[in-house]
Amino acid sequence: MRDETKCLHSGYTPKNSEPRVVPIVQSTTYVYDSTEEVASVFDEPTKSLIYSRFANPTVMAVEEKIAELEGGVGAMCTTSGQAATLLSILNICNAGDSFISLTEIYGGTVNLFSYTLKKLGIECIYVDKYASEEEINKAFKKNTKAVFGETIANPALSVLDFEKFSRIAHENGVPLIVDNTFATPVLCKPFEHGADIVIHSTTKYMDGHAVQVGGVIVDSGNFDWTNGKFPELVEPDESYHGISYVENYGKAAYIVKARMQLMRDFGCYPAAHSAFLLNLGLETLAIRMKQYCENATAVAKYFEKSDKIESVTYPGLKGDENYELAQKYLKGASGVISLNIKGGRENAIKFMDALKLASNEVHVADIRTCVLHPASETHRQLTDEQLVAAGIEGGMVRFSVGLENIDDIIEDIQQALNAI
Ligand SMILES: *Cc1c(COP(=O)(O)O)cnc(C)c1O
Repeated sequence: MRDETKCLHSGYTPKNSEPRVVPIVQSTTYVYDSTEEVASVFDEPTKSLIYSRFANPTVMAVEEKIAELEGGVGAMCTTSGQAATLLSILNICNAGDSFISLTEIYGGTVNLFSYTLKKLGIECIYVDKYASEEEINKAFKKNTKAVFGETIANPALSVLDFEKFSRIAHENGVPLIVDNTFATPVLCKPFEHGADIVIHSTTKYMDGHAVQVGGVIVDSGNFDWTNGKFPELVEPDESYHGISYVENYGKAAYIVKARMQLMRDFGCYPAAHSAFLLNLGLETLAIRMKQYCENATAVAKYFEKSDKIESVTYPGLKGDENYELAQKYLKGASGVISLNIKGGRENAIKFMDALKLASNEVHVADIRTCVLHPASETHRQLTDEQLVAAGIEGGMVRFSVGLENIDDIIEDIQQALNAI
């Protein structure tokens, strides 16, 4: 199946007389005929359902759909993108370990990596996207367990150099974890370009309608966990009566471990109803993504011509710093544009407050056009130094183009620019 078809049909195939639409299984628990059967379910927890803290049929249908869209061997949904990022790291890093991350990433991820993981004894070593391979190799320590980056960075909109970073990760014996939120599997399939684990904030394009927060981790099944660096995936898990994830689950070792250890213990699993809503968003993802890209290209070109704008960042624009990488890895540059408005913070805020159709809100990648001022909102907690590293300036506006008629979007922009 192609993406448009997978969006509609993957993950749930009703049999004779069963519901056409994936049912909402609103139950915390599952019934068995005997104690012995319940006991056997604990021996093979991926075979049957036990408890909705870590598995539920509605959520699993969505997990399978996303795994198929990404081309992975398995997926696990989480209650937020933040939870997906956290678990993707905790699944392979313990206190005393480190991992490498590109500097241009989402502000919430910077907080998680720089402060909260540090408190747990896990060090994040930041590297610049333009750092030489030699420099990056030097940043690796014995305890370094992963490399992390974003396909299209939020909000810097730089495109990940998959070839470079997957090669560096693999030469150092660690997986490349990629946050594919802005691209979605419709615009980029990171596993085809060397990524090993993908995460998403499904809150954005996947849901698309701003109705529920969620996340997902997808496992490519391609990484060799037996290279000596990841004993927890190979050696018996004492907390699961001596199971070896690699031995028992083969290619799905990472994602099964994430569910059986981390989801069991942390319980940040979405409710069936949330997964049902996410599925509705996913059904139209492929066709929506095409239209976001088309609208955003028109808006980016319009901004480019305005004398009120210092610069426009959109990887789909010819001449953009990331245009070549976008051509190489993306089928489209998504609906998100970054602007730098002349006159800095003051004029950026004037422009945003004058918009009528586009809403001023803490969101991005929605079906409706929306704007955000990263320096004073999402990235407020960052120091000036961190802001520069994340590619953010005072005049920066993150403009998320929605699916309204393109002429209405542009007329709104026109009148707001006139207000500056
Ligand atoms: C929003 C976002 C996150 C965090 O996701 P939540 O669902 O808000 O927790 C992570 N990464 C990127 C790129 C995002 O845009």
